[in-house]
Amino acid sequence: MSDAAADDPAVGRLRALLRIPTVSRIDGSEDRAAFARFRSTLRELFPRVFSGLEVETVADDLGVLLRWPGRSPGDAAVLMAHYDVVPADEPGWSHPPFAAELTPDGDDLRLWGRGAIDDKNAVAGVLEAVDALLGEGFVPEHDVWLTFGGDEEVMGHAAAAAAAALRERGVRARLVLDEGGAIVQGQFPGITEPTAAIGLSEKGVAAVRLSVHQAGGHSAHPPSDGRTAVTRLAAAVTALTRPSRTVLPPVLPAMFAALAPHARGIVGFAYRHPRLMRPLLLRAMRTGSDETAAMIRTTRTVTQLRGAAAANVLPESASAIVNLRVAIGERLDDAVDDIRRLVGPDVEVEVLTGGDPAPISPASGPGWEALVAALASSHPGVLPAPYGMLGATDGRHFTGIGPVYRFFPFELSNAELGGLHAIDESIRVSSYLRGLRFYEELLRRL
Ligand SMILES: [Zn+2]
Repeated sequence: MSDAAADDPAVGRLRALLRIPTVSRIDGSEDRAAFARFRSTLRELFPRVFSGLEVETVADDLGVLLRWPGRSPGDAAVLMAHYDVVPADEPGWSHPPFAAELTPDGDDLRLWGRGAIDDKNAVAGVLEAVDALLGEGFVPEHDVWLTFGGDEEVMGHAAAAAAAALRERGVRARLVLDEGGAIVQGQFPGITEPTAAIGLSEKGVAAVRLSVHQAGGHSAHPPSDGRTAVTRLAAAVTALTRPSRTVLPPVLPAMFAALAPHARGIVGFAYRHPRLMRPLLLRAMRTGSDETAAMIRTTRTVTQLRGAAAANVLPESASAIVNLRVAIGERLDDAVDDIRRLVGPDVEVEVLTGGDPAPISPASGPGWEALVAALASSHPGVLPAPYGMLGATDGRHFTGIGPVYRFFPFELSNAELGGLHAIDESIRVSSYLRGLRFYEELLRRL
């Protein structure tokens, strides 16, 4: 298949998009021109979509919002993706991150580049599917909205602005589809078939600042008891390493129900009797991997520290930033109360940004059924597996508009998933092309 795949115009279009370095940077030093070029390239590559749909931009042009009018009023669908990427500054890439090189991979081809699986594959994939259907003269039953954000990787505002625009117009959706789990193998205990990991919810994420204030002075004569703003802060940081309580996230019943018929042996029994097997399941998840352990707990990770401005100064204040990930089934307020209790009253605790875990979308209803039917058509034999995501997506902004599902219709190996936010991000061309079929099948059912 490689020759035909190499010449496939859809592959050529994804390559063109991967070559544009739309790198989001937390310090705001992005190359804005690259983002503008990306948006104009989208219009050039998909002229039929951009002339056939209603197009607007939000958040100072960073977000692109398109409406494909349906034949009749009724609950809409929202397909979303983001076109910014994380930096690719780290050395060691086997292929340059913005060259979109194609290399042979067995009978397949591999396309290399930052954004190949997060998330330009979804941007281009959705547009390819819409373009193909427009070419057939297809008109969806109800409105379909497409929204592409340019600041997801820095927890920006484009998706929130798009969601606000939809809310203002009273849009209700039967399905909102954003990035999320992929088609994977061997990631769900007891299941040997390939599974489509469809996120029904995601953990809450917050940035919390811990600050300690104390009179400063010259570091040549520190307090004789050793208590400085820094040592007090260090004690607070250490206190947070105590693991938080475990919770069996309320997305698990849906996951177990979906997987139970396919799981063998003791695991199948556990899936069918989750209440009875609760302690065993919690232990399996706690000891399984860092990922499974993070699913059943709120995690509090200190990622940034700040002390004095100079080496010979006792700081007047010392601070730490905690990256807090609130377990599905818990609330941000409770997680912050836990932090306050652990660090004690002398440490100031401020929530800088953050929110609760996303509500749990149902693994039933018309949106879910459309997803499952599309999957059965594009990827026969792949089991839909509902789960809860550890990471945050732009999808959380669409809470209240409709059930949000977090899923990439692309088959990715563990090694490929390792390329997320790391070196050597890449996708197999066959996996990409099959994903386009999923989007097309889904759109036909909306
Ligand atoms: Zn992403």
